[in-house]
Amino acid sequence: MPVDRVRKSNSRLDGLIPYDPKSLAVDVFLSANENPYDVPAGVKAEMFERLAKLSFNRYPDPLADGLRGLIAEKEGLEKSNVLVGNGGDEQLFNIFLAYGGPGRVFLNIPPTFSVYAANARLTGADVVEVKRFDDFTIDEDAVCERVARGDIDLVIVGSPNNPTADLADAAFVERLLDCSDALVMVDEAYIEFSGRTLRRLIGKHENLVLLRTFSKAFSLAGARIGYILASPSVISEFCKVRQPYSIDAIAQTVACTVLEHRGEFQQVIDGIVERRALLQGELSSIDGVEVFPSDANFLLIRLPHAHEVWETMLEKSSVLVRDFSSGDYTRNCLRVTVGTGEENGRLLEALRSAMDEVGR
Ligand SMILES: *Cc1c(COP(=O)(O)O)cnc(C)c1O
Repeated sequence: MPVDRVRKSNSRLDGLIPYDPKSLAVDVFLSANENPYDVPAGVKAEMFERLAKLSFNRYPDPLADGLRGLIAEKEGLEKSNVLVGNGGDEQLFNIFLAYGGPGRVFLNIPPTFSVYAANARLTGADVVEVKRFDDFTIDEDAVCERVARGDIDLVIVGSPNNPTADLADAAFVERLLDCSDALVMVDEAYIEFSGRTLRRLIGKHENLVLLRTFSKAFSLAGARIGYILASPSVISEFCKVRQPYSIDAIAQTVACTVLEHRGEFQQVIDGIVERRALLQGELSSIDGVEVFPSDANFLLIRLPHAHEVWETMLEKSSVLVRDFSSGDYTRNCLRVTVGTGEENGRLLEALRSAMDEVGR
């Protein structure tokens, strides 16, 4: 008799829910923290010229050496301090393959990016939580005390943190780096909107990893390129677990072109930072809306009946923001990406009328 069934998957997958970014087709999409503007036309034209010369039959450079060199130069570091990946997401996977796993302990500081804890569970690592205060600032003493006990293998600090939008204090991160030999990743996916990187600490602390991406400030969410900056000893551990050809030749070419023209993105980044301040002011002026300070390209807000408001904005105005209202630590919170001036206007209009409809 042929068997028409499949055996159960790894029990670590029990209860895991696939990551769902809820990307619905809408008029105003402010839910994924993307750059509202595509790559400038001139830069795109140069990409296409370079792509036309690619040999598609050949495997790509496994370590994206050209791109790695450009990143090292931009950061004033050595190539041995840089490792490129298939989006920041690949590096968030690799870090748990290399430093997580069974019998290992990850310290999480929620509310934060859900991928961290999901990858910890997937690799069988234990998760210890030191939750943020009610205003979403980090309980720095509690984190350092817990890590100083010595059994924590890995810590990730978002800076600016997603979804709370705040930068981590540099003195706190240094204290954390000094209080044990745990690997500390500072996720700087949004750093270009704050201008305050911890790059200067690379070389001073062997246990520091910075995570960066081209997906946000550099308009390349569609191309999947991220990288880490770390000590050579940590980079070589990541090299052991990474997939050899994770960054395809197209993405390497695209990212090199963007990096060579990175100056052209500065105006767009400055514009987003300016509109963040405007949007912050407008949102705060709405009765019932609490806005948290932001160093990123998004704002976290708290309001009554957030889920109903989210749904109404989507259905009545075709405006999509991210709903965090069912999260354990983010009750009644929504996260809104800073868009173009027009998109922000539509967001405000949709939010006001949804709140009028749902009630405060
Ligand atoms: C967007 C993001 C990343 C990286 O995303 P990729 O598109 O995979 O490069 C990493 N961390 C956080 C917190 C993010 O929001």
